[in-house]
Amino acid sequence: MKSVYFDHAATTPVDPRVLEPMLPFFCERYGNPSELHRLGREARTAVEQARAQVAAGLGAGEKEIVFTAGGTEADNLALSGYLQRFEPGHFIISAIEHPAVMEAARALNRLGWAVDFIPVDGDGVIDVDAYEQAFRDDTRLASVMYANNVVGTIQPVAELARIAHEKGAAFHTDAVQAVGSVPIDVGALGVDMLSLSGHKLYGPKGIGALYVKRGTRLTPLIHGGGHERRLRSGTENVPGIVGLGVAVELAQAEMAETRPRLEALRDYLARGVLENVPEVRYLGHATERLPGNVSFTVRYIEGESMLLQLDVHGFMVSSGSACASGSLEPSHVILALGLGAEEAHGSLRLSLGRENTKAEADAFIEVFPPIVDKLRQMSPLYVKG
Ligand code: PLP
Repeated sequence: MKSVYFDHAATTPVDPRVLEPMLPFFCERYGNPSELHRLGREARTAVEQARAQVAAGLGAGEKEIVFTAGGTEADNLALSGYLQRFEPGHFIISAIEHPAVMEAARALNRLGWAVDFIPVDGDGVIDVDAYEQAFRDDTRLASVMYANNVVGTIQPVAELARIAHEKGAAFHTDAVQAVGSVPIDVGALGVDMLSLSGHKLYGPKGIGALYVKRGTRLTPLIHGGGHERRLRSGTENVPGIVGLGVAVELAQAEMAETRPRLEALRDYLARGVLENVPEVRYLGHATERLPGNVSFTVRYIEGESMLLQLDVHGFMVSSGSACASGSLEPSHVILALGLGAEEAHGSLRLSLGRENTKAEADAFIEVFPPIVDKLRQMSPLYVKG
């Protein structure tokens, strides 16, 4: 049985074209970029080349890129690193943030910061009026994700950043799901900080970056030898950084081809599910969504049961609660769309990537309806009409 991977929002395979330039930096070119000898200088050159690649992918300056150990650290550096410079006041996030932002916000709240969680509409788009009204005199920061990891909805980030600035606050966006999938230009967006992660764009795990606009001051979270312009100490993950640079460059170069192809495949798969399974609700915005995200709920059955049955048939997908590993709580994102707990439990996310094909979508559309049928027959919630 061939397996089909529809879980690219969780992680992506490392592209061989990304892996290849990383490899010398493990065993041959293993220098510490802080050292002045040849191996050290070679490593430094590679790190700075990768910084230029990441910067170019975002329309940023090279000095505006801080490498981190992934998206979670970038988000924590943005929120805690920015706010720590002030006396505790107020900040704003959306109700559908990834735990990397949500839990960083809760930790700041325990330190005395007030935080507002701005609701979203049924499509997952932030309530811009409520957002605007939430600002106070002591609001220092607003953080709203670029694209949601569960339902794929893309937020009006440029407008949100503009409003934050009008109110005298800085603006951060978690663009971990967006970078590499949709074009990002930090200048056009007007954001002060933006997070990204290597393993969501065919790069390695454990590497990411925070874009920090020139003039935006942060307090480091990790103290030490003063690496990354004193913002993130620790000997650089040179192979990871090299991989991230190449991954961003490749994603950028191929986006004009990949994006429309994935959008078409996404819409084909969504249609196939909606037309062949009764009582399915498509989640997220119809058009303002990630190219590869197909997210829906199936009434009367659990996302996890569908996931496991699909796994038996070779399809790897995710349920709505996936990011909170091991948790069977309904996703806070899906609840925030206004769905009840029972319906939220039946959520499934298919996230497509470069290597997926129409034949795989067809295979899914064939396999999935009988799985739903079988599970519904066993469900105490289901009464066949
Ligand atoms: N933010 C979003 C929106 C994500 O989807 C993820 C990963 O699932 C993260 C942050 C965390 O990134 P990382 O896994 O690199 O720590």
